[in-house]
Amino acid sequence: MSFHKLIETLNKQKISYDPERLKKVFDFAAAAHEGQLRYSGEKYIEHPLQVARILAGLGQSAEVIEAALLHDTVEDNPTITLEQIEKEFGPDVAFLVDGVTKVGKVRLRGSTDQIFVENLRKMFVAMAQDIRVVLIRLADRLHNMQTLDAIPLSKQKRIAQETLEVYAPLAERLGMGFLKGQLEDLAFAYALPKEYHWVTSLSLPHFHHAEETTKHLIRQMKQKLQENNIRALVHGRHKHKYSLYKKLLRPEINKDIKKIHDLIALRIITDNKLNCYSALGIIHTHWKPVPHIGVSDFIAQPKPNGYQSIHTKIFDKSGRIVEIQIRSEAMHQQAEFGAAAHFVYSEAKAKGLSSTELDKGKISLDLGKKMDWVKQLAAWQAEIGSNEEFVKNLKLDALSSRIYVFSPKGDVFDLPSQATPIDFAFAVHSGLGNFVQAAKVNGKIVSLNYQLSSGDVVEIIKSKNPRKPTKDWIRFAKTQKAIAKIRQLNPE
Ligand code: MN
Repeated sequence: MSFHKLIETLNKQKISYDPERLKKVFDFAAAAHEGQLRYSGEKYIEHPLQVARILAGLGQSAEVIEAALLHDTVEDNPTITLEQIEKEFGPDVAFLVDGVTKVGKVRLRGSTDQIFVENLRKMFVAMAQDIRVVLIRLADRLHNMQTLDAIPLSKQKRIAQETLEVYAPLAERLGMGFLKGQLEDLAFAYALPKEYHWVTSLSLPHFHHAEETTKHLIRQMKQKLQENNIRALVHGRHKHKYSLYKKLLRPEINKDIKKIHDLIALRIITDNKLNCYSALGIIHTHWKPVPHIGVSDFIAQPKPNGYQSIHTKIFDKSGRIVEIQIRSEAMHQQAEFGAAAHFVYSEAKAKGLSSTELDKGKISLDLGKKMDWVKQLAAWQAEIGSNEEFVKNLKLDALSSRIYVFSPKGDVFDLPSQATPIDFAFAVHSGLGNFVQAAKVNGKIVSLNYQLSSGDVVEIIKSKNPRKPTKDWIRFAKTQKAIAKIRQLNPE
C-alpha cells in the first residue's frame, strides 16, 4: 500500500490534517524502518501504514494517524528515542507513541499469571489515561491478524489465542463490535483449527438455506415499512463464526444448529429512535412474535458497553424462527465502533468540550460509566497490590464473559458470569453490602449464593441495622470488589 492510499482514506473520512506534517511523519517512519522486512517479505513500513489506514477508517484524528505511523519506530530502531519524536512532532504524538510502546512491549500470554496481569494492568492504566492508545493497539493487532499467515507456524497459535483471550474481549468491552467480530473470526481458524473446520462445514448448508428464506422476508419487510412511511434499511447480518461456535457449545443448544435462530438475523436500521418502536409495531402486526422468548429492549436499557437495539423473534410464513434487531443509525455506529464512534465526538462537542480537549482524549473520561470498569481495575490493583488470588480474580473479572442484570428501578449492572446477589450488592454500592438481609431475583427470594443470569431483576432486602458480611461470603463472591470488601471487614 502506498502513502497515497492513506491520504485517500483520510479525505474520504473528512479527517482534517496538515499534509506537509503528515508527509514528514511518514518519511521519518519510513527511514526508521528502512531495510526492515516483515515475515511476508514486504517492507516493514507497510504495517504502520495499514494500521494508520484502519484508524483513518474509524474516523480517528490526524494525531492518532501520526502516532500509528510512528508506533513501532522506538521499539524497532535502537537509534530512535522518544525524546526525538517529541522534539520533531510534539509531546502529544510522543505521549501516544510512548503509551502504545509500553502497552505492547511484553506479551500477554504464555507467561505466568502474574506477568499476564501486570501487562493487563498496564493496558488498563493506559486506557484510563487515554483511550486512543488502546485504539492504536487494537488496530495494530487487527493488521497483525490479517497478515498472520506469513509468520512462523509456531507463533501463529500463541498470537491467535492472545487475540481471543485479550484483544477481542477488550474490543467488546469498548463496544467495538466491528473490531471484535473481525479479531475473533481471524483468530478462530488459527487458535482452534479443528473446531473452526467443524463449525464451517456444519453451518455451510444452513447458511445457504437461511439466505434463501431471508431474501424473501427482507423484501416483504421493506415493503411494509415503506407503506407505513418508516425510512429504514433492512438487511441480513451473518453470525460471526466464532460466536456461532460459542453458542453451539451452550448446554441448551447442545451442538444442534437447528436450535440457533440468528444464523442470519435481520437488521432494521431506522433514522431515529422513535421509528425503532414504530418498526417493531409494524413487524409484530404482520409477523407473530415467538411467545415466551420475548422482546429485549436494549434501547430503553442499554448494555453497559453502550450497545442499543431492540431484539425480537418472529415466525416467518413457513414457521421458522427469525431474529430481528432494530436500531437507529446512531445506535448502529455505536454498536460497530463504540469508543471510536464519530458521533460520540460530535455529541461531546455539543456538550461544550473543546475540540482540543476531545483530540487529547479527554473524551474517554466523558464516556462516563462505560469506562468505569477500566478505572476500577486500575484502582483496585493499586490498592491491594498483587497477591496470587487477586491476580486470578482480576483476570477473571476483566475478561470472563459478562452478564447484565437489573435493579428493580431498571439500572443495568455488568457482572462476571456466575456472579451472585452478594456481587450485585457491592456493585450497587459498597455500603449496601453491609445491609444484606436477603435477596430477591425476579420477585422470588433466593439464597445468597444463587447464580445470576443475564436479564435477572435483582433486589437486595436491607436489614435495619448494619450486618457485617461474613467470611464465608467470599466463597459466593465472584467480583474482586466484593471479595476485597468482605476480606477487609474480616481480617485474618
Ligand atoms: Mn505494530
